[in-house]
Amino acid sequence: MDNGIAIVGAGLGGLTLARVLHVHGIAATVYEAEASSDARPQGGMLDIHTHNGQRALEAAGLLEAFRRIIHPGGEAVRVLDRHAGVLYEEADDGAGGRPEVPRGALRQLLLDALPDGTVRWGHKLTAVASLGEGCHRLEFAHGASVETTLLVGADGAWSKVRPLLSSATPAYAGLMFFETWMSNSKRHRPASAQAVGQGALFAVEPGKGILAHAEPGDVLHTYVQLQRPLAWVERLADLDARTAALRVVNEFDGWSPALTALITDSQAEPVIRLIHALPVGHRWDRVKGVTLLGDAAHLMIPSGEGANLAMLGGAELAEAIALHPGAPEAALDTYEQAMFARGAQEAAEALKLTDTMLGAGSPGTLLDFFRSHGSDCAG
Ligand SMILES: Cc1cc2nc3c(=O)[nH]c(=O)nc-3n(C[C@H](O)[C@H](O)[C@H](O)COP(=O)(O)OP(=O)(O)OC[C@H]3O[C@@H](n4cnc5c(N)ncnc54)[C@H](O)[C@@H]3O)c2cc1C
Repeated sequence: MDNGIAIVGAGLGGLTLARVLHVHGIAATVYEAEASSDARPQGGMLDIHTHNGQRALEAAGLLEAFRRIIHPGGEAVRVLDRHAGVLYEEADDGAGGRPEVPRGALRQLLLDALPDGTVRWGHKLTAVASLGEGCHRLEFAHGASVETTLLVGADGAWSKVRPLLSSATPAYAGLMFFETWMSNSKRHRPASAQAVGQGALFAVEPGKGILAHAEPGDVLHTYVQLQRPLAWVERLADLDARTAALRVVNEFDGWSPALTALITDSQAEPVIRLIHALPVGHRWDRVKGVTLLGDAAHLMIPSGEGANLAMLGGAELAEAIALHPGAPEAALDTYEQAMFARGAQEAAEALKLTDTMLGAGSPGTLLDFFRSHGSDCAG
């Protein structure tokens, strides 16, 4: 029996939980499927918000270290029309509440702040059995198993822990992302570099959009967003990378080459992402000894909040455990009630934001949004 807390998944949620527990002197073990911290690139920039992600980093004692990895200028926003004409622009004055950081650097910050051996790499959970009285046995792909008295599923969209609590599964949200990367953009494609600017670019119309970020090292990282049926995306996934890019760029006929080059001129193999979500308001009845965190609990359409929510959930769960020594059920209940309400609200907001960006009134609805809220409220 592992008498500590078993966390499945070393994403931002699971690691924040482990770190805040450590700050409170409580041991935990994180079981992660990947073989090491650098087994795969961690993805692009994340904007970390004052009221959730930064609040979690404060609880983790890592706010100062976080400030050192902020990408200067990353909060700049511009909205362009299909001809790359500027419809809206907001500079990064350094005073915004959502500074951008590379996801990999943020994850590494959390990893470096954990005692050696906290994360057990190469532990892919394949099955969980309830042993009664809140105890669970975890079985891993390489044959090892461990028993635990408190289990947290922080294992993302396709959580193996979730079925202990809920029969819900993520459903395709009718939205796909085509993800590309353009390096040396200032030399290679100056018009595209100029179109994106220093921070985030939004070029949207009903049902489609090109969203890009200027990342450190002169990389333009683009998410092409298309609202298309699953069968359309499956046909796309069957094509080789170049043909798939041409198929996607066809959807942007008449758009400026400065924008379409972001689709066709990726130096890395483009990635097709089917966007899935759990039902809005996903929740469950308390089951002794187990809970979920982050995407495992409230997977939603990307809206710039998911990582922030996973981190805040991790921090709040750790604080609840610390506040209720010897009473884990009270801790889990306190954590879940706040997390359910927040998850439901943010998932509904994510749907609204998608409509603001890609609905029938786009781009006017996005311009209204920025003009009334400023970029502090956008993904
Ligand atoms: C394209 C895209 C863009 C996004 N952009 C943003 C953004 O700008 N801002 C933002 O806040 N959010 C964003 N999100 C959402 C964000 O990525 C997620 O909400 C966040 O990563 C959730 O963190 P997590 O720790 O819950 O799960 P994850 O980050 O998914 O981590 C889960 C971990 O569990 C591990 N794991 C999975 N299965 C097992 C298993 N069986 N055994 C052991 N380990 C396992 C995985 O390897 C992984 O390390 C975006 C999402 C997408 C898809």
